[in-house]
Amino acid sequence: MDAAVAPGDDFNAYTNGGWIKATPIPADKSSYGISAILFDATRKRTLATIQEAGSASSGDARKIADYYSSFMDEGAIESKGIAPLKPQFDAIAAITDRHELARVLGGQLRADVDPLNDTNFETGNLFGVWVSQGLTDPSHSYPYLLQGGLGMPDRDYYLSATPHMVELRKQYQAHVASIFALAGFQDPAARAERVFALETKMAAVHATRVESEDVHGAVAWTRDELASKAPGLDWPALLEAAGLGDAPAIVIWHPRAVPRLSVLAAKEPLDAWKDWLVFHAVERASSFLPKRFVDERFRFYGKTLSGTPELRPRWQRGVDYTNAALGEAVGRLYVQRYFPPATKAKVQAMVRDLVRAFGRRIDALTWMSPETKAKAKQKLETLKVGVGYPDRWQDYSGLEIIKGDALGNAQRAGLFEYQRQLAKLHQPVDRDEWWMTPQTVNAVNLPLQNALNFPAAILQAPYFDANADAAHNYGAMGAVIGHDISHSFDDQGSQFDAAGRLANWWTKSDFDHFKAAGEALAAQFDAYRPFPDLAVNGHQTLSENIADVAGLVAAYDAYRLSLGGKPDAVKDGFTGDQRFFISFGQSWRSKIRDAALRQEIATDGHAPEQFRADAVRNLDVWYEAFRVQAPQNLYLAPKDRVRVW
Ligand SMILES: [Zn+2]
Repeated sequence: MDAAVAPGDDFNAYTNGGWIKATPIPADKSSYGISAILFDATRKRTLATIQEAGSASSGDARKIADYYSSFMDEGAIESKGIAPLKPQFDAIAAITDRHELARVLGGQLRADVDPLNDTNFETGNLFGVWVSQGLTDPSHSYPYLLQGGLGMPDRDYYLSATPHMVELRKQYQAHVASIFALAGFQDPAARAERVFALETKMAAVHATRVESEDVHGAVAWTRDELASKAPGLDWPALLEAAGLGDAPAIVIWHPRAVPRLSVLAAKEPLDAWKDWLVFHAVERASSFLPKRFVDERFRFYGKTLSGTPELRPRWQRGVDYTNAALGEAVGRLYVQRYFPPATKAKVQAMVRDLVRAFGRRIDALTWMSPETKAKAKQKLETLKVGVGYPDRWQDYSGLEIIKGDALGNAQRAGLFEYQRQLAKLHQPVDRDEWWMTPQTVNAVNLPLQNALNFPAAILQAPYFDANADAAHNYGAMGAVIGHDISHSFDDQGSQFDAAGRLANWWTKSDFDHFKAAGEALAAQFDAYRPFPDLAVNGHQTLSENIADVAGLVAAYDAYRLSLGGKPDAVKDGFTGDQRFFISFGQSWRSKIRDAALRQEIATDGHAPEQFRADAVRNLDVWYEAFRVQAPQNLYLAPKDRVRVW
């Protein structure tokens, strides 16, 4: 902490200032803080889990060990060079017409995006695929198709006129040329120019990040409708190659961008497309290729784009890729070692307090109509809160892992996961499906399932410590749980009913009140300006900011509930309420490099951590706990404090 700072002037500095001053960002990271520290600790535990798997002679454990050791075998990777990509290069070179182009484009599609659960919109393939229940048809699964094709994170990187972005574009084009040169292609500069020009055209027709977050933009088209509404691409060829040749309907998440990308596929020179395919084939594979490719990729994406000075150690990357390929197989072993049933039971008790607190909040709302309240309560009662790990584990018996074939393993794992997702199209909807692995330091709200996942790895100190007092646990993990519960009842959650159907269950006046409160919070965040030329985008981050305030309010109520009406003791000179808020502030403890902060502001649905700690300024009890008064920086007059719940 930094006791020299008044909590009412800068709550983040008050709760974290000492740490911020004393802690450098490690050279291999673009940001550092509580979640990065937990990431590191979890990665070490996961490594121990993987190493222990090495003693197995068969089954998932053997696959885990072989996947990891193949990635770690740099000698074998160096000696193969670029040869493992030769079949892909040959297939691309053999493209002589638009039909073949569509076939190759379709064959590359993977389950690599998620517009609802974790709002991941980035894919270097022409389209991203997501498989989940239908927006208005909860009893069937559908394939969702999203815009894609860019090598940089978002359209702004191609179109924005700020000097920072103009410079990044120059660097990116140089990076693309380097990739062609390293892969042994002639005329790398000319190829890079063509790739960049094509991607700039894609960016120009892409939806913005804010537009992408609109769930009402999506439309379900049959395969015939795709061909007539998005002419240009040879859709039958693309869908067949993508394993979607028999899908009765496809949900088009970006119905304005997809037809325009289709036109580009018909009109832009075939050679530009072929260069683009080669570049992305190498880019996708580069983590599993010789060091010169790894270094070049890091030089642009790590150093230039995120400002990270050093590549993280190979073993850390190996753990991450093993997690990506065999996530639940690793997770199953992880929870056996690190998530005892007693911890699970304690978290479940905290969840019950949070749900109760939220129910009382709903009952007490003066602005919500009785019919909306009844539906909210129904949704709360049927909410499925997954704690630690799924009830049923994924089956990896169909995935082939070959020792010594690092790139092939990664490619087979990506295809295996894609096929697992496609198989859902022919199965009953699984309302208990998990979307995060147990060893993930994060949590997620699943609107279509009316469910939450809290993986084992976030349920550890300092977020949740089985030995810490209630003020600590409710201020940190309680607020996270409250945050995710509130997503079921916010601008997104109000769109999905208890069955997970996209159907607004709010009356217009309920929604108007909610929107007005949201506007006030958006304005609060628009005023945070970490750079003279760049402010936080209050609307891009609005859902998350509402969830932070709502989660904090519910966590505070749940904390009081857990005390059973008794006052909490003073400890280390702090009252229970003070410890609760300090724990919340410290749960946002973080530092970030300027380049990464700019990237986060441009693309992330969450506000930067330092401002998320300031959610406290909307709670009356925070003012009482720290005697915050005007004209302190964070002071808000009671009428300006945003009270949604
Ligand atoms: Zn959230």
